[in-house]
Amino acid sequence: MRVALLAGGLGGSRFARALGETLDPADVTVVGNVGDDLEVSGLHVSPDLDTILYTLAGLLDEDKGWGRAGETWNAREAATQLGAETWFQLGDRDLGLHLVRTEALRRGEPLSSVTVRLTRALGVAATLLPATDERLRTWVETPAGELSFQEWFVRRQHRDEVDGVRFEGAEEARAAPGVLAALEAADLIAIAPSNPFVSIGPILAVTEIRHALERRRVPAVAVSPLIGGRTVRGPADRMLARLAGGTGPAQVTQCYKGLIDALVVDETDADEDAGGIRTVVTRTLMSDAGARRRLAEAVLGVPV
Ligand code: GDP
Ligand code: CA
Repeated sequence: MRVALLAGGLGGSRFARALGETLDPADVTVVGNVGDDLEVSGLHVSPDLDTILYTLAGLLDEDKGWGRAGETWNAREAATQLGAETWFQLGDRDLGLHLVRTEALRRGEPLSSVTVRLTRALGVAATLLPATDERLRTWVETPAGELSFQEWFVRRQHRDEVDGVRFEGAEEARAAPGVLAALEAADLIAIAPSNPFVSIGPILAVTEIRHALERRRVPAVAVSPLIGGRTVRGPADRMLARLAGGTGPAQVTQCYKGLIDALVVDETDADEDAGGIRTVVTRTLMSDAGARRRLAEAVLGVPV
């Protein structure tokens, strides 16, 4: 069974791992969000792609939920001492990856090609692709004004309420090579339990990808990022409350209107209105290998 997965960082990477452990990972293509990408000290950083890459390679710092385990911070300390802005933290090993990626991009290699090379180099069998090779950036409208995604998320620790999101470059951006083919070849399209607005939103804002989902001939299934009406981590619950009017399955469904056939919800949300979509109820917290497999099987069981 071939699966194409739309994914953000933390929830995205955990569910990508769940699929990779349950299926032949060669049959899994992950389409990652690049709306969070940024330049740090001249280096191109793709935080969501890297969280997925490190997770699938077994290198993620699982406590932090980003970056590499066993990281050291010498470069950052030196840069701070020299007066650089270092609010976006990059560890020494992580920097190695950003050096390789940035050098390749400067040579003219597309992001999708670099990303595939990095996954292969780290022994990852699943395919990881950015939604687009073109520039796509998420901007967040807040009472303090419009902020770039990372300014809001990392620098201001997503304290500001969000009144709207904008995906610079998305409408004109083409899907990266391989993305539409993976969606076309899939037996199932899955949407990870990621932030619907700022992780999945930028992927779906790429017109070709949205159209591919609208015209799908196979089931599309989303996993809700909510457990008991709350997110496991991050601002998705606050955003759902403010932008969609509630923090239940119905509001998640609303974000994916016309794009999904079923929503997997946690047991704790089973009695809530799901907005008229077919639901599959299971425990959705991916706390260990058993929990990941159970969730993957719930999603993969939808078509039959
Ligand atoms: P980010 O790019 O790192 O912010 O990550 P994502 O957007 O991919 O994921 C953030 C979402 O993942 C949050 O809304 C969490 O509620 C959700 N999440 C993280 N771990 C789990 C899990 O084990 N189960 C479920 N259902 N959601 C999770
Ligand atoms: Ca992200």
